[in-house]
Amino acid sequence: MAIGVQTDMATPALARFGSHELKEQFLQPSISGDMVACLGVSETGAGSDVASIQTTAKSDGDDLIINGGKMWTTNGMQADWMCCLAITEDGPSHSNKSLICVPMDTPGVVRSKKIEKIGMNCSDTAQIFFEDVRVPKSFVIGEMGKGFTYQMLQFQEERLFGAAGTVKPLEIAIGATIEYTRERKIFGKSILDNQVVHFRLAELQTEIEALRSLLYRATGLYIKGHDVTNLASMCKLKAGRLGREVCDACLQYWGGMGYTKETIISRYFRDFRLLSIGGGADEVMLSIISKYMGTLPRIHPKK
Ligand SMILES: Cc1cc2nc3c(=O)[nH]c(=O)nc-3n(C[C@H](O)[C@H](O)[C@H](O)COP(=O)(O)OP(=O)(O)OC[C@H]3O[C@@H](n4cnc5c(N)ncnc54)[C@H](O)[C@@H]3O)c2cc1C
Repeated sequence: MAIGVQTDMATPALARFGSHELKEQFLQPSISGDMVACLGVSETGAGSDVASIQTTAKSDGDDLIINGGKMWTTNGMQADWMCCLAITEDGPSHSNKSLICVPMDTPGVVRSKKIEKIGMNCSDTAQIFFEDVRVPKSFVIGEMGKGFTYQMLQFQEERLFGAAGTVKPLEIAIGATIEYTRERKIFGKSILDNQVVHFRLAELQTEIEALRSLLYRATGLYIKGHDVTNLASMCKLKAGRLGREVCDACLQYWGGMGYTKETIISRYFRDFRLLSIGGGADEVMLSIISKYMGTLPRIHPKK
């Protein structure tokens, strides 16, 4: 996940909309591995509802002064810079925000705490505060006020990455389960030789293959320049659900060993639980898909 933040979550908007100077300063060293990037969208009071973030970046001459804080920032304890979503102007919530490159060694950036998680322990997750953090306006990615739109586009890569990072590990989970259940004998035969077990694994392998096809289709269209918001949301939804289903089903066949920290399956069980929450929860994906289907009720503004 730490690598995915670098390649597909914190940098796509900069690559697509950033100025040449900004790319030289932040993107090029991120690609070469000399800088670690993080993405600051979520806050304590705004996760699913991205439009309701409260962090502000107020104009002061040629600079912006950032105040507020970010929550759940993957790579946050070690990042060199953050792609930060903040309110830069008055106006409707979808057009009052900008994406800003914030060097994490700027005075006023406080890496408040490393959050303890049940999984994904190979990447750190931080809570960050901004106390009068001064950055030049030239650190804004693309146009001021377009940050929300850029972030929604950037989510396409994040969600495709989420699905792409699922296919192989789930195959590994099934492979490891086949190996374990073939070796382990109970009631005079290997666990795998029970039809309920090998049929279930065959069913799950088929689901993974279906996810792979959806992912390849969405990615192919994305590379051709299409807006794949709908397909990327479907990919992310399916990957999150399937990740949970495969890991839970496989863990069961490992018996007690599956419930220890000594096996790969328990790690996958904990790690994959995140995919239905991070990068937009399953329900957020369902809302997007419903919107494309024309079934999401419209919220009428109060008169
Ligand atoms: C380990 C980890 C790493 C993360 N990394 C980053 C990062 O690097 N950068 C970043 O910006 N964010 C990051 N996040 C934040 C992540 O994107 C949010 O946790 C996620 O968007 C959900 O927001 P929330 O936690 O505030 O949950 P809430 O918004 O409070 O939602 C809680 C639950 O409500 C349900 N829900 C949501 N919408 C609806 C709906 N319309 N209808 C019905 N139910 C609904 C969902 O089940 C959801 O899980 C990370 C989170 C975790 C846990």
